[in-house]
Amino acid sequence: MPTSRHPTRQVLIGDSRVGFLKIGGGLPEQSGSPTTTAPVIVQTMTAGYTHEIDRCVAEINKLAAAGADIVRVAVPEKKDTEALKEILPRVRVPIVADVHFHFQRALEAIEAGVHKIRLNPGNITDRKQVIDVIQACKGAQGGRGIPIRIGVNEGSIIERKDKEKRMKELGAFFAGYKHGHLLAIMIAKLEEYLDIFYEQDFRDIVISAKSMDAAFVVDAYTEISKRFEHPLHLGVTHAGPKETGTIRSVVALGGLLINGIGDTIRISYANDPIYEVQDGLELLYCLGLRERVGVDLIACPTCGRIQVDLFTLVQDVRKALAEKVTVPMKVAVMGCIVNGPGEAEGADVAVFAGDRRGIIYVQGERVANVPEPEILERLLAECLAFQDKVKRGEAKLGEKKVDIIPPDPIGELGSGFDKIAGGKVEKSVGLTIGKS
Ligand code: SF4
Repeated sequence: MPTSRHPTRQVLIGDSRVGFLKIGGGLPEQSGSPTTTAPVIVQTMTAGYTHEIDRCVAEINKLAAAGADIVRVAVPEKKDTEALKEILPRVRVPIVADVHFHFQRALEAIEAGVHKIRLNPGNITDRKQVIDVIQACKGAQGGRGIPIRIGVNEGSIIERKDKEKRMKELGAFFAGYKHGHLLAIMIAKLEEYLDIFYEQDFRDIVISAKSMDAAFVVDAYTEISKRFEHPLHLGVTHAGPKETGTIRSVVALGGLLINGIGDTIRISYANDPIYEVQDGLELLYCLGLRERVGVDLIACPTCGRIQVDLFTLVQDVRKALAEKVTVPMKVAVMGCIVNGPGEAEGADVAVFAGDRRGIIYVQGERVANVPEPEILERLLAECLAFQDKVKRGEAKLGEKKVDIIPPDPIGELGSGFDKIAGGKVEKSVGLTIGKS
């Protein structure tokens, strides 16, 4: 379980139509009363063009339906900020405008009613222009104001002469880090940028400091969390394809979150952003940072004891349950009874496969023994029936201690003496339960 969350100065994003979301918290507000720390929220970014209005709206709504709390859109051209005026009334999550180089795009996005601006002050060379954006954010939404995320990604921090001395000092301080010099530049840049915002008395700030190097991301956010009071947007930038980006992202973000660092996350893949949302949510569920919506699926990796097509079954179960089960039900799909009952302990619904068969349990009670082609349909039916009972208040998730008595491998599961003799099924089933 993560340690308690690092306290930050909470920011609010949204409006009365899409609702308001809190990011971070724990530090006192100006009134002096401490804020309650908000759950870590998941965000992503559209992959399509913002000026293709219908497609952009469809993509945002698809990502929101998948669980994205916030969606960011790129606004490189005026036609993109003009499109925002039509997009915003048609979506139901707060929208962030991603601004690079052109401060006018930020002003136009604010005028259109966007809920947050992502800005890298290092990409806007004229300080007056940055101040114009800050002032526009302060006065946005009828004076309530909107937050700004300051991004100091590894790829966009550029040294400036007047900060050389400070960076040298910080470089010496961070000498113990593998990337001490880069970390020093990042901290120095943040100090420099934040000064601009503080001079304007603007504090609705979220900070990000991304890199494609997972170890650097952990070091950077760890140091930033010690130095600044603002909520942190975690991410590994350019993490690559999903196949490798998952590991890169989970190592970095998981390592930080488990230490209480991070208030909002974006996993980024060279793939459909729906995977960023799904994996971001799963990461938070696994760490106990968000209450799970839908099934928590346990499945065995299979081994030489397997006697059904378990990989296909697991994928079919995942897809079928994802659409129909909305309560956080624990479901186990196990390849055999050798280790299955121990590993599925605590599952609300479980199936243990035998020789082309499956025995299904609901909270420890055996309810069916069906041939392989019927496993999916019966398992789904049992999950839905159990979900209905939970919704009616007749059963509680995870309430019953699931003490599964394993099925007989010879008779019920049809493994037979020849397979036991051949070592395909352990003879002493009772002795191996719960051991890997
Ligand atoms: S022992 Fe059984 S439950 Fe464990 S991996 Fe092998 S088939 Fe799956």
